[in-house]
Amino acid sequence: MCMSDSEFDVVVIGGGSTGTAVARDCAMRGFRTLLLERDDIASATVGTCAGMISSGLKYRSEPDIMKMCSTEVVHLNRIARHIIMKNPILTPFRDLSDVGSDMEYVESYSEHAEERDVPEMMFLTPEATIAIEPLLHPDVVFSVYYEEFFIDPFRLCLLQALDAKRHGAEIKTYCEVIGFETVNDVIQGVVFYNRITGTTEKIGAKIVVNAAGPWAPKIAGFSGAELELRLNKGAHIILDRRVVNVGISVKALDGRYIYLFPHENTTLLGTTALDTWEDPDSLVASFDEIEYLMRSIETYIPSIRDARIIRTMAGVRPLVADWKVPEGKVTRGYQVIDHENGLISFTGGKLVMCRHMAEAVTDIVSKKLGNDSACTTHEKPLPGNEADVDVEALSAEYGVSMHALERMRARRGTEMTKILELTKDHPEWKTTICTCEPIIEAEIRYAIREEFPQTLNDLRRRLRLGTGPCQGTFCTYKAASILSEELDLQGDDFLVDILDFRAERWKGIRPSMRGEQLAQEELAQGMYSCVGNLDQSDVDYDLKPWEEGV
Ligand SMILES: Cc1cc2nc3c(=O)[nH]c(=O)nc-3n(C[C@H](O)[C@H](O)[C@H](O)COP(=O)(O)OP(=O)(O)OC[C@H]3O[C@@H](n4cnc5c(N)ncnc54)[C@H](O)[C@@H]3O)c2cc1C
Repeated sequence: MCMSDSEFDVVVIGGGSTGTAVARDCAMRGFRTLLLERDDIASATVGTCAGMISSGLKYRSEPDIMKMCSTEVVHLNRIARHIIMKNPILTPFRDLSDVGSDMEYVESYSEHAEERDVPEMMFLTPEATIAIEPLLHPDVVFSVYYEEFFIDPFRLCLLQALDAKRHGAEIKTYCEVIGFETVNDVIQGVVFYNRITGTTEKIGAKIVVNAAGPWAPKIAGFSGAELELRLNKGAHIILDRRVVNVGISVKALDGRYIYLFPHENTTLLGTTALDTWEDPDSLVASFDEIEYLMRSIETYIPSIRDARIIRTMAGVRPLVADWKVPEGKVTRGYQVIDHENGLISFTGGKLVMCRHMAEAVTDIVSKKLGNDSACTTHEKPLPGNEADVDVEALSAEYGVSMHALERMRARRGTEMTKILELTKDHPEWKTTICTCEPIIEAEIRYAIREEFPQTLNDLRRRLRLGTGPCQGTFCTYKAASILSEELDLQGDDFLVDILDFRAERWKGIRPSMRGEQLAQEELAQGMYSCVGNLDQSDVDYDLKPWEEGV
């Protein structure tokens, strides 16, 4: 074991929305902070979510939570507006009996609408509804119109991590916590396996924050503490184009609400919500979930199957362990649990609340460590949100298409000028590498140099590389060669990375395939393997010591 004398005030476990928000707040309040993530930033639950920073409409039975969501939408729009989109949404009804007593949500939504700078909820006639969304079933009798905000969850986590780093935090990805060092049952240090160096390391910690989402009980267990969650599986389907003009939210076959959201250059259909005892590490969307979503949305968008499913994704909501109520009635609030042994854990929460959760836990840390600095995470902009960007002027100055730059702006904000500057010395880096998104070579090189990706999958999370209709068919090999040049990857490392990237895409595509389409795809996979010499049998995967021989 490699030992280190360095001591941190706070070690945060987990690089999802919660952990990165905690690391940012702790670092901004002056704590020596280390974030440990076993994989990449935003590689787990948060990466499978819809990215809706919602008004809390669904949780109107919990007015405090609705109010918190609304205020957090305002804060996020202040600190991260470059990665936020406003989405108009229609809830159409074909049957008046479906309306029931539910309409109280109109009032709940509208109560905080002004604060969020959106109009109050409106009722639309069938004609107005169909004019906005002609693909809707012609039997619609009326609809409700409202607006919600969406954030890029990958970029939010990354920007929080980068901002934490700018404020002095250390961010270590591919470092898996495997235990604690304790004296008299009180945590003194954290033991982790560094997957990059292949070493087990120990680091001193005054306080540890457990932001491991669905894995939080396992982390608590390392310290001897018990923690229970109500794990709730959710699946999404991604369609190959923007099917609808606006978001559509409808009652599914079982009476729950589901949604169809235009998302970047695709459409997101979701979500399911099922109590689960499956291993969160091996989840995939099931046949039942896919059919449930497709059949439900089909009752309102009859032509939905004209679009192609390009992939599915599934994740687990780490809900508060609130039992003997249907999952829809479980609080969507969060709890902070002080185990009184140096470890503080979260249960529950949502992406939209991550900053709020971080503030709550950092207040506790501050009290314990005697620091009275105020929280400023709701005021200070995240990187890239310092000013507006004139995309048209940049396009003229650097000779890159408006389309590519508009997409870059939505990821980078003001940081995009640094990327474009790179093209002055390397005009060839204006080449488009991922045509679906699109992404130019300069941005890929910038991301590799500044945003600590280790693999193609990490690049995907930073850039949306390979997430469009072609699912990486055209960009994988080009991006892999840029990555291997920048990181000096050799031989097997290079091949393993391509295989991992393809395996991750395949994991999402496979559940949606049927019959002939599946046979064709298997053939295509085989052809890529032969042409690219990607036969897995020779590749030496990097196993963790405790996995060897398994
Ligand atoms: C289908 C679905 C849709 C959703 N939609 C929305 C939505 O639209 N809006 C919204 O607000 N919320 C939504 N949510 C909820 C939201 O995604 C989650 O509440 C939130 O993302 C949880 O973030 P987290 O950081 O707590 O967990 P995670 O993102 O799971 O992060 C935990 C991290 O801990 C790491 N980790 C685990 N074990 C270790 C270890 N031993 N060492 C180091 N690191 C470790 C994991 O790798 C992971 O990266 C949705 C959830 C699902 C499943």
